[in-house]
Amino acid sequence: MIQRLRIQLALWFFFLVMVAYILAGMASFWSMTNRLNISTENDLAHMCEEIAPAVDYRNGKPTLSDWMRVAARRHIPAQTTIQLFGANENLLESYGPKGIEKLQQGKTSSGSGNTEVSVYSHYLNLPEGCFVQLQLPSAPYDQTIAGFIVNECLRSIPLAILLAVFGWFYSGRAVAPVAKSLNTLRNFVDDAGHELNTPIALIENSIETIEAHLRDHNLQTDVLRIIQRASKTLKGMSQNLLLLAKMEQPHISLRLAPVNVAELVTDIGQDFSETARAKKIDLQIHIEQVNNLSNVIVLADCDMLTEVFNNLIANALRYTASAGQIYIYSFRSENNICIAVRDTGCGIPKECLPNIFDRFYRVDRARSKKEGGNGLGLSIVKAIVKAHKGTVRVESVLGKGSTFFVTLPIVDAKQLKFYDIASAKIKPETVDSSV
Ligand code: ADP
Repeated sequence: MIQRLRIQLALWFFFLVMVAYILAGMASFWSMTNRLNISTENDLAHMCEEIAPAVDYRNGKPTLSDWMRVAARRHIPAQTTIQLFGANENLLESYGPKGIEKLQQGKTSSGSGNTEVSVYSHYLNLPEGCFVQLQLPSAPYDQTIAGFIVNECLRSIPLAILLAVFGWFYSGRAVAPVAKSLNTLRNFVDDAGHELNTPIALIENSIETIEAHLRDHNLQTDVLRIIQRASKTLKGMSQNLLLLAKMEQPHISLRLAPVNVAELVTDIGQDFSETARAKKIDLQIHIEQVNNLSNVIVLADCDMLTEVFNNLIANALRYTASAGQIYIYSFRSENNICIAVRDTGCGIPKECLPNIFDRFYRVDRARSKKEGGNGLGLSIVKAIVKAHKGTVRVESVLGKGSTFFVTLPIVDAKQLKFYDIASAKIKPETVDSSV
């Protein structure tokens, strides 16, 4: 969890600084091209104004032939195209490199491929409705802009590397206090679970002694049953806390072994049949029967997996009223086996679904407490399933019922070679492994 938080922080840092860098780059690109356009157009405008008085009129037609022969033209850059247009916007004279033979203002281009001409163009009205137009090729400016883009891109590579390194370093520093608090919390949960065990054991022993004493004296009292129920709730809570603390260790130590999940779930379901009958709930189990045992073998910690289905089926019974139905079934999806526990119980409101797997979260606190729940069951289910590289999700309609889906990866044939599949029973010989 801490590692994920660190990665998220580092990525956010990287992303935000890169976005800021790209925006700043775009702003300077925009300002640079703007400045280039304005200064080129200003230059062209000045040159037009300089040339205009030099235009002669012969038979009402403007000409620069004399001016072109004198030294005045020298300070006009050699790459400038000078054009004179008549009153009908028809080209009369053109000097310098070939430009675009049309009155244009600003950056413009014509033709395509090798014949493409791209210029900055500016024209000025002359007397008699004529025009003088100057054009400068845009290629040198385009090259400056391309150079700027290449520079920015090249600069972004070392920047990205630096950002990744700094981001990783600083996110590590940022999550360190969170990791410390989490560790303290984890230790507290673990300690609380252990510390509760001793008084609970004492209460249980005392209850047995008092029960024996009452039996000897032919006495009866309801108080003992109340204490017994309270001690059972406390015991469940302490076991859940211990399990939760174990599941939240950075390296969970699981006793992995091939488990025949179909058989395991069927057996757990059957363990609940008596309780279901007492509550007049119709409990049905339909786990896919497959000839090839490897179809339903998962590599799992059998005790942990038992905890998962115990919790889900106990919840289904807890939140389903009498005359309701619970249906446990399975199906394969690609290389996974999915076990679903469906009930026709009270259902879960849509807005509560995102929090349902959070620790101590209860939709109806009073009801959960009355039924002996402590809000830890589903968070334990999620932690165990995740540790087994599986997923758990829920679909629920308020007032109609809920279905919890547990998906686990089926162990592949190569891995199975190392195990004795035939002995993959409910409680197989276990092998130490860590996930
Ligand atoms: P609890 O011990 O309170 O049952 P869980 O973590 O197992 O705690 O479940 C959290 C909450 O999710 C429960 O309080 C209950 O409101 C809701 N919930 C769980 N399973 C079901 C179900 N099958 N049907 C309806 N609500 C459920």
